[in-house]
Amino acid sequence: MTDRLVRAVFDDLDIKASVATVTHTARTAQIAHQLEPVSAMMLGQWLCAGALMAALQKGNSRINLQLECDGPLRGMFVDAAATGEIRGYAKNRYLSLQLDEGPFRYRPALGNSGFISVLRNIGDEEYYRSSVQLEAFSLATDLNHYFMRSDQVPTAVAMHLAPTPTDALGLVVGVLLQLLPSGNTNTFHAVALGLEERLAQAAVFHADAPTEILKHLIPNQPFTEHGETPLQWACTCSQERVFNMLRSLGKQEMQEILETLGEAKVTCQFCGTTHIATRQDLQLLLETPA
Ligand SMILES: [Zn+2]
Repeated sequence: MTDRLVRAVFDDLDIKASVATVTHTARTAQIAHQLEPVSAMMLGQWLCAGALMAALQKGNSRINLQLECDGPLRGMFVDAAATGEIRGYAKNRYLSLQLDEGPFRYRPALGNSGFISVLRNIGDEEYYRSSVQLEAFSLATDLNHYFMRSDQVPTAVAMHLAPTPTDALGLVVGVLLQLLPSGNTNTFHAVALGLEERLAQAAVFHADAPTEILKHLIPNQPFTEHGETPLQWACTCSQERVFNMLRSLGKQEMQEILETLGEAKVTCQFCGTTHIATRQDLQLLLETPA
């Protein structure tokens, strides 16, 4: 099964919902960046959050989800498209420490201060950036604060990993509930209570089935599905882009690279792919006008 995101509306409650399964994407990121367990767990959640937030966007626009913190993780960055392509990285790839259960589970990775910053495409070339300080030191709870502050829309994000002693990720699923303008705030908060536990329970049996997860999130409430988007790890980097970047350095610098290094190796920070411009490539770039 592939990762996907399903959108739905709980018609009687005026709550819209997205459920994302991100297990394969998170595992691809773990391999691509060679992440140690805790780095993989943090980035897996952040990729999940990126997918859920990108689904609120229109057309083929993107969102950038940034986290900066003074803990050993240092930060994370995810770039996600409404069309389902996700990429991202953790600043510290080597984080491996004991995480205890409970609400402060991720605090050892996040530290004592930090912020979440979201850049959203809100029109053709228009962008909107909004930030909140980390308060709960739980990615999901701090994202809920973000929505309350920046959009004044009651939102409940929950994410679930199921690590085993040999697998840091297990499965990675997430949900985002948002109250529609016609809905009732008290009802929403009642539904949001215990969301993480219900997601975890549903994920045990339906890890790859967002529709089944939706049935368990708000029991006995009818919902209408509004489409499904396949999710996948994808980057916009390419050999051609690396060549263009080298061209932009100018002939003198390219000549220096050729003489001192013989080739140019450029590793994309988003996806970990290393693009190589060989001696022949560099010579060709020097000979062809930009
Ligand atoms: Zn890349």
